[in-house]
This record gives sequence, C-alpha cells and structure tokens, in this order.
Amino acid sequence: MNDIEQNLHEIKTSIPEEVTLVAVSKTKPVSDLMNAYEAGQRIFGENKIQEMTEKWETMPKDISWHMIGHVQTNKVKYMAPFVDLIHAVDSYKLLKEIDKQAKKYNRTINCLLQIKIAEEESKFGLSEQDAITLLNTEEVKNLTNVNIQGLMGMATFTNNEQQIHNEFKKISSFFEELKPKHSQLEVLSIGMSGDYKIAINYGSTMVRIGSSIFGARNYG
Ligand SMILES: *Cc1c(COP(=O)(O)O)cnc(C)c1O
Repeated sequence: MNDIEQNLHEIKTSIPEEVTLVAVSKTKPVSDLMNAYEAGQRIFGENKIQEMTEKWETMPKDISWHMIGHVQTNKVKYMAPFVDLIHAVDSYKLLKEIDKQAKKYNRTINCLLQIKIAEEESKFGLSEQDAITLLNTEEVKNLTNVNIQGLMGMATFTNNEQQIHNEFKKISSFFEELKPKHSQLEVLSIGMSGDYKIAINYGSTMVRIGSSIFGARNYG
C-alpha cells in the first residue's frame, strides 16, 4: 500500500459507515487522486472550478465531484455539466445562477448553504437568520433544478478545542431545528483533517478531509 491508500484506509476505519468522506484533493496531481480512486474513493472535493474541471476531464467518469470552495457566479457554467454537490452557497443570486446553468444540462445540482460559524472575519457564509430567510423565500422554493440538501460550516482555525466544540454544536443544533420544517435537508458537512472527530460527535454526515489523506499542501 502507498501512503495515500494507507491514510485513506485509516480514516475510513475511524469514521462511522454512514458518514460520507469527501477526499479534498485541491492542489494535488491527478496521479495522487488516482491512488485514492484505485483504493475505492469516488468522491473528491476541489476549491477551484478550473482545476476541478481539468481533473474531471481526465479522470474516470464514475467520480462524484464536490465544489467546496467559494463560487463566483460567472464561473458556475464551467462546472454545471458535472458537479454533484456545491458546498458553499451563500446567496440567492448564486442559487439562481446554479439553477439556470443546471437547466441547460437537464440536471439537478445539489447545494449546501454555508453557515458562518467561525469568529474569524474572513470566513464566508450566511447568518442563521439569512439562511432561514433564504429557505423560506418563494423564489428559492420555485427553483426547479437546484436541491438544497443541507448545511456546511467551517470552524475557526484554532488550537482551542472548546471553541471548535461550540461552533460545531451551534451549527448542529441549527441543522436539527431546520430539519423538521425542510424535509430535503439531510447533509451536515462539517469536519476537516484537524477536527473531523469532533464534528462527527456533533452529528456530521459528511467530512471533508484533505491533508490527512494526501499530505500537506504547498499552497491553497
Ligand atoms: C481545504 C479544505 C478542506 C480540507 O482541509 P484539510 O485540513 O486539508 O483536511 C475542507 N474544507 C474546505 C472548505 C477546504 O477548503
């Protein structure tokens, strides 16, 4: 087994079966992704549309591609033919564009609403109130080719575990509060290499893990 296969194996055995593993492969070469593919991994997460599109073009077609990064409206069209899940949706404008592009390909594109849970100023995302408003907006309900499948959050990058606990707890309670009113919500995407075990304790259904599988990144 090579390192990537070994890492993947270790992570898979440490997460419950019902938690979906997104292998975050941003900045990594196709050869590394193919190692993971050969070890059975079929879901990959990227944060740049152009890089994801290039990898989609060269790699096997049974891969599910997730866009985990911030999305610019004018670039949605490049991934609309193939993207399975867009994690970081944070505006009606973006949802409308995803819907419009998805229609061209006769597809439904799954989306998650990114909720701002970190204290850091730089993080993108909606407040809880804005997410509620979005979910209840008639225009959003009428979009036929997007499916808002759940929520996504990123905890503050910190060594303070208590803070990470608090942030995951907050999004998890919010998710539980919304679910009874919005039956399409089933995905809670929280947890990265450094905090996925905590995230799983707070009900994560999808973890996004990069460096613990593929090794440290030089950039990105
Ligand atoms: C890069 C990235 C990850 C993975 O980070 P690691 O610490 O390498 O596991 C997860 N989610 C998002 C949104 C990212 O940009």
